[in-house]
Amino acid sequence: MVRCTDYCDPKALRVGGIKEPRLQTTTEEETVAVARFDELGLSEITLKALEKTGYLKPSPVQERLIPSAIEGRDCLGNAPTGTGKTAAFLLPILEMVDEKERLPQALILAPTRELVDQIGREFGKLSHGRWARAVGVVGGESIYNQQRLLAQGCQVVIATPGRLMDLMARRTIRLDKVKIVVLDEADQMLDVGFQPAVEAILEAVPEPRQTLLFSATMPPELRKLSERYLRNPVDVRLIKDNEDATIPAIRQAYLMVEPDRKFEVLIRLLEREQPERAIIFCRTKHGADRVGTLLRTNGLKADTMHGNLSQAQRNRVLQAFRLGRLKALVATDVVGRGIDVRGVTHVINFDLPEDPSQYVHRIGRTGRMGDDGTAFSLVIPEQGKLLDQIEKTISRDLEGDQIEGIFSPPRPVHHRPQRGVFMGRRQNGRKPFPPRRGNSGSGGQGGGQGGGGGFRGRRDRAPQGAGRP
Ligand code: AMP
Repeated sequence: MVRCTDYCDPKALRVGGIKEPRLQTTTEEETVAVARFDELGLSEITLKALEKTGYLKPSPVQERLIPSAIEGRDCLGNAPTGTGKTAAFLLPILEMVDEKERLPQALILAPTRELVDQIGREFGKLSHGRWARAVGVVGGESIYNQQRLLAQGCQVVIATPGRLMDLMARRTIRLDKVKIVVLDEADQMLDVGFQPAVEAILEAVPEPRQTLLFSATMPPELRKLSERYLRNPVDVRLIKDNEDATIPAIRQAYLMVEPDRKFEVLIRLLEREQPERAIIFCRTKHGADRVGTLLRTNGLKADTMHGNLSQAQRNRVLQAFRLGRLKALVATDVVGRGIDVRGVTHVINFDLPEDPSQYVHRIGRTGRMGDDGTAFSLVIPEQGKLLDQIEKTISRDLEGDQIEGIFSPPRPVHHRPQRGVFMGRRQNGRKPFPPRRGNSGSGGQGGGQGGGGGFRGRRDRAPQGAGRP
């Protein structure tokens, strides 16, 4: 199914960022005097687009990345999801592309269709007033339509690596004018087996070029990739190694449960928490379907989103969730990690992720742009070790929690590294949460319609040349 959406629909703009965000950073102490957008070297037209979008101040990653990227430096970032990373790389791209040149000059690679869509929506907002045009290139949609859109000319391509490789093999995309490449959620691209494709694509882009790489985690293969392809990068990591890679405003807890009582615990947890909007992660499509059905039979407005659904079906579900017609979205990792919806108050890991770094991506669906969020993980006793690994990955202990009246087996302690004070408390069950921070944060939504295909800037001014120094 082909979708080609004008992402500068004024309605989409209104949905954007009207609410003044609480800007998010790694520690409380760092939330200090934030720069203004007009101090970052952005052009008037960009400043106007930002004003229209409702972004009042740059987030820390925007403040750090934009000036270096505009200078043309390679950058390495690990900003957690929900901190404004997309605009941080799109704004410099918009400044540097030559709108009169109709061949792609910027290439953004992302692991999933949903993320490509999300970047496309952000592009639509930020390119307001420009002629710049972006085309989304993703699998599961008509390649012919994507070829047609590319042939019409664009400055930016947002792609999943697999489909981009297909287009390259057909020689229906030209990369010889590309001068900036963004690898977004690079660790995810490697995880889903895109490493050879990413490397082949990087080899096909001419040098010299500018490369921006974002990744929540830095596994050894990715470190090697970054050493090979990034030239003297500016380190714009908001989180240094060994710091908590999850967003601090998110309260995180685990519940030990017997495998056959997981459904019961989930229902009781939802009753207790009364989430505004919750995303529930399951490991398999089948599991997600079962949980979705269970929630609906318990009277909850819930739907399921996984890889068996067509792109059009996924978009419908996501839109219903965005508009608040659904309280709960049950998702698998592949589709879940690209979801950008403001006002998700809870993420629940019905199944723990197999890969601990996936945990970071999952819970980043809540607490976006400084909203509060809560993440619960249901853990069965055999998963004690996995829980240890997750805590090690995020360098943070999760709080123990339990549902009153439902037996909670003890957390296995023999695998766990000694973490002092928490050990005793955990074995005895629940430790209360610290008090809630700040606003309750059910903000606006993340953007307009979902959709791959063409992302267009609005043409209400004459084309202008590249703004790059
Ligand atoms: P991201 O981290 O790029 O996924 O962005 C998270 C959300 O924050 C998206 O819905 C953006 O539209 C929004 N956003 C990005 N930058 C800003 C900003 N400076 N002020 C307010 N909202 C923003």
